[in-house]
Amino acid sequence: MSKLAIVPGSFDPFTNGHLDIVERGAKIFSNILVTVFNNQSKSPLFSVEERVQLIRESTKHLPNVSVDSSDILLMDYAREKNADAVLRGLRAVSDFEYEMQITSMNRKLNKDVETFFIMTNNQYSFLSSSMIKEIAKYNGDISGLVPDAVDEALKGKFNFL
Ligand code: ADP
Repeated sequence: MSKLAIVPGSFDPFTNGHLDIVERGAKIFSNILVTVFNNQSKSPLFSVEERVQLIRESTKHLPNVSVDSSDILLMDYAREKNADAVLRGLRAVSDFEYEMQITSMNRKLNKDVETFFIMTNNQYSFLSSSMIKEIAKYNGDISGLVPDAVDEALKGKFNFL
C-alpha cells in the first residue's frame, strides 16, 4: 500500500541536513511531499516561491519527492492531501522538547496522521538554516552544508555573485 509522508518546515533556506532527512525518508515512504509553511513569526530571507524553487532544484534526483507550499494548519493540510505521516528531523536535545509539544498538539488535531522522526546525520547535527544565513551574510564557506542551488541563491541575496 502506498504511503505518503509530508516533510514540513520553513526551509529558509533548505540545507543538506533537510536534504538528508528527505533522502532517507524517500527510501521508506512511497511518496514524500516537502511543504514550505510560511511561519509568520519568523521574518524570512527567501520568499515562499523562492524556497519552493530551491527545494525542487535540490531534490530533482529523487523521483518520489514533490514540493509544495501552504499557509493552513499542518494537520488540516495533511488531511487535505490524504497523508499517512509527517516526517521531521531531530538534531539535539533542544529540538526534542519543541517537537514533543508540536507532535502532541498535532495528534490532538488529527489522530489519523502519525509523526515520525529521523535522527540527523552526525555531520549535520549542528547545522541550521539560521546559522547558514549568518555565515553566508559574511561570504563564509558553506559548501558541503547546502545544495549548490542554495549556495548560489545565498550569494545572490548577499550580493557576492
Ligand atoms: P521549522 O521552522 O518547522 O522548525 P525548519 O526548516 O527549521 O522548520 O526545519 C524543518 C525540519 O527539519 C525540522 O524537523 C527540523 O528539526 C529539521 N532539521 C533542520 N535542520 C536539520 C539538520 N541539520 N538535520 C536534521 N534535521 C534538521
